Amino acid sequence: MAEIMPKIGLKEGPKELRVKPIVNGTVIDHIAGGQALNVLKILGISGTTDATLSVVMNVESSKLGKKDIVKVEDRELLEQEVNRIALIAPAASINIIRDYKVIEKRPVDLPDEIVGVVRCQNPNCISNTLEPIKSRMLVKARNPVLLRCLYCEQPLTERIAEYLI
Ligand SMILES: [Zn+2]
Repeated sequence: MAEIMPKIGLKEGPKELRVKPIVNGTVIDHIAGGQALNVLKILGISGTTDATLSVVMNVESSKLGKKDIVKVEDRELLEQEVNRIALIAPAASINIIRDYKVIEKRPVDLPDEIVGVVRCQNPNCISNTLEPIKSRMLVKARNPVLLRCLYCEQPLTERIAEYLI
């Protein structure tokens, strides 16, 4: 773990190296190594954000080899946001923190069908060419994620982050 917990009786290190526990907010753990910035994109957090957040990337994980962790203060994720995270980080777990305590911990989960979240990569697909038709993807596998377009059956498994709407 790259997190440095305060130790009583030891001299404190440089403050910018410390990842403090958060009072209220969400901790997204077990993100596949290197995907944290895509998770931030899903949450609508860009370079100009004023949100208080911590991103830890490529720390050792017995489960994943390398993992990323994202902590967002003063924000509890909506179910739709959690579903989107499952698309690119299917092993992630969501921890909701209130008053320093984990009040809810759950894995991310994908519904059997996702509507209007991921664009079909077939440029001729009806969902890309006819304006009112929303993309509809069937979830065929969850880890790694395999999607299949309901209209043209085009599969999508890699680079899903690039096709998020
Ligand atoms: Zn399609």
